[in-house]
Amino acid sequence: MTTDTLTAFAAGKLAELDAKSLKRTLKPTHRLDGLWVEREGRRLLSFSCNDYLNLSHHPAVKAAAIRAVDTYGVGAGAARLITGDHPLFTALEARLAALKGTQAACVFGSGYLANAGIIPTFAGPGDLIVVDELAHSCIWAGAKLSGAETIAFAHNDVADLERLLAERRPGAGRALVATDGVFSMDGDLAPLDAISAACLAHDAWLLVDDAHGLGVVGGGAGSARAFPDARVDLQMGTLSKAAGGYGAYVCASQPVVDLLKTRARTLVYSTGLPPASAAAAIAALEVMAAEPERVAAPLTKAQRFTRALNLPLAQSCIVPIVLGEAETTLAAARVLEDQGFLAVAIRPPTVPAGTARLRIAFTAGHTDAEVDRLAEAVRRLIPA
Ligand SMILES: *Cc1c(COP(=O)(O)O)cnc(C)c1O
Repeated sequence: MTTDTLTAFAAGKLAELDAKSLKRTLKPTHRLDGLWVEREGRRLLSFSCNDYLNLSHHPAVKAAAIRAVDTYGVGAGAARLITGDHPLFTALEARLAALKGTQAACVFGSGYLANAGIIPTFAGPGDLIVVDELAHSCIWAGAKLSGAETIAFAHNDVADLERLLAERRPGAGRALVATDGVFSMDGDLAPLDAISAACLAHDAWLLVDDAHGLGVVGGGAGSARAFPDARVDLQMGTLSKAAGGYGAYVCASQPVVDLLKTRARTLVYSTGLPPASAAAAIAALEVMAAEPERVAAPLTKAQRFTRALNLPLAQSCIVPIVLGEAETTLAAARVLEDQGFLAVAIRPPTVPAGTARLRIAFTAGHTDAEVDRLAEAVRRLIPA
């Protein structure tokens, strides 16, 4: 009998999750390039990477990272406010602000850290945060850390958002509305024009997490560009998806960015992004600007796939095939794997119970023939 209650707790919890097909395990994956991976001795064509433009292996992006290591070393050495603010941050932030059409930008260590730092900077106890029910986990984490009252509105339902703001806004101090621009597990876009109008009408600020929008929608500039009438106060996104590397940002007015740089706890108390990551991001943004065909390709591929299967036309490069139960979805992923495709099963709590799915992500490098072969394979898995 073990007296180690911590280990006993963990073992019990794992057994419980395993019984529900919800235990997860890491699988070492060698990403051979931006498309192919090697896993458990098998070479698979990946439809599960967020490397939508295949920039993680782009020669110019890699070269920029290597040069930055040679010049600045591998680490920032400290938090940015101490000595970690290497010169590449200035260049990267200027580039991001120009891309988003804002006065300024602030780079964070990761998307998760960004939302965990941004939200508590602008909302606290006595304030109100209203979040799309399907928004990313790190928005919820940031809201919780803030201590503000946090409520959900029904997914992409602007009438519900309006109703909640009309009801709750009057008694609250400041109000913040937060949503994904492109929903990470569904691939649909938030109606940012209508959401921003609701925010303006109720004196609420709008944060849009565009992790999956940068490099893919709005001509690559992100979902705010796809809704030109939308006013987005905090344009947040990550450098870890289409940009192919690591790190995150928020673009906003100069005072908003200045306040973040002096108060956001995940910036103040966390080491700056390594120079190589900042250099890679700058190079990735340069490739995006220089190659509009590359930027357009992931959405074109996704739409080819949804047309082939008579699914609603893809709005982004993410297409969910919702199969319901975790076990069914795991089995479907195994069938695809036997045909050489990697399409990882996404299970609760990443998605709501009963909506386990294959989340298929298209990238610039997938050929039409590969998209068609995947569509055929998936067709056989969808219940008639
Ligand atoms: C991936 C993701 C994040 C987290 O970004 P990281 O840089 O990976 O920490 C945040 N929001 C959304 C919507 C995401 O999909």
